[in-house]
Amino acid sequence: MDLDTFGDQLDRLRGAALADVAAAGDLEALDERASHYLGRKGTLTALLRSIGAIPPEARPRAGQLANAVREAVEAAMAARREALAAVQLERRLAAEATDPTLPGRPRRRGSLHPLLETSRRIAEIFGQFGFVVYEGPQVETDELNFQLLNIPEEHPSRDLWDTLYTDLPGHLLRTHTSPGQIHVMRATRPPIRALLPGRCFRYEAVDASHGFEFFQVEGLMIDEGTTLSDLRGLLDEFAHAMFGADRGTRFRPGYYPFTEPSVAFDVRCVVCDGTGCPACGRSGWMTILGAGMVHPVVLRNGGIDPERYQGFAFGMGTDRITMLRYGINDLRLFLESDVRFLEQF
Ligand SMILES: [Zn+2]
Repeated sequence: MDLDTFGDQLDRLRGAALADVAAAGDLEALDERASHYLGRKGTLTALLRSIGAIPPEARPRAGQLANAVREAVEAAMAARREALAAVQLERRLAAEATDPTLPGRPRRRGSLHPLLETSRRIAEIFGQFGFVVYEGPQVETDELNFQLLNIPEEHPSRDLWDTLYTDLPGHLLRTHTSPGQIHVMRATRPPIRALLPGRCFRYEAVDASHGFEFFQVEGLMIDEGTTLSDLRGLLDEFAHAMFGADRGTRFRPGYYPFTEPSVAFDVRCVVCDGTGCPACGRSGWMTILGAGMVHPVVLRNGGIDPERYQGFAFGMGTDRITMLRYGINDLRLFLESDVRFLEQF
């Protein structure tokens, strides 16, 4: 091949390449063109390789011509690439453009569930007296839920109709948070100040004041010389923090298998303040929790010597405390997940 032929072919390719580059409508098309002319198997690449077929004395000149063409095509491609990129960016920005005069989208804010909020408030109050939160499992053994808490086989709360059993023999859904007492006693040594919040289960016909699923908070304190008056003082502090500093309180005798003696703890009715109303059965008092001195048998079951240590325990329904706090009259609202209800807290 002589220099003239080579030059003609170069000119033709140069013309075709520049026209193609100018016609490329987007970056993809341009990439395809670049590969067509300048790629490993590109037509311009092939022509440049054919320089070897030109007589030796004409090769330097052929090389100059070829490089000039390649540089011109590369420069045209770079310029076109820049222009196309700018256009595409502009289009994208136009598509994403925001209208600053439009009203903003309201961001829905969540809030804590009232039961959780109350549970935390209770933990906060008792936390000031050194009580530490401990969470036990929701599936318990019969032994932990009943036997070790001094609840014998014939106790009414063990009735098949009151308890939800699992397929696993000897396992049930805990009917109270009290098994946590045994867990804590076995896991730590006195002095103990533990708060045991959590979900509990009972086989119940559901109505405004009964649920098969409900929430409790239990407290346990064990130390040398712990007395019933310590319990009374602590519960008074709690009632005042939760229901007002001048809220009247009282102990009444109660009965639980795992405490001896046992008491019910009442506050002046939060609705009528003691004058008597339907909410308090006209008595002026509302029972908010049960409590008592931990039974020596239960202490022993927890590995604690009842000759040396005494303790008290108390338990309250988180649902009931929450209902009293907010004036809620139906416990079913707590688990219905109705946003209209939950948004009020
Ligand atoms: Zn009342």
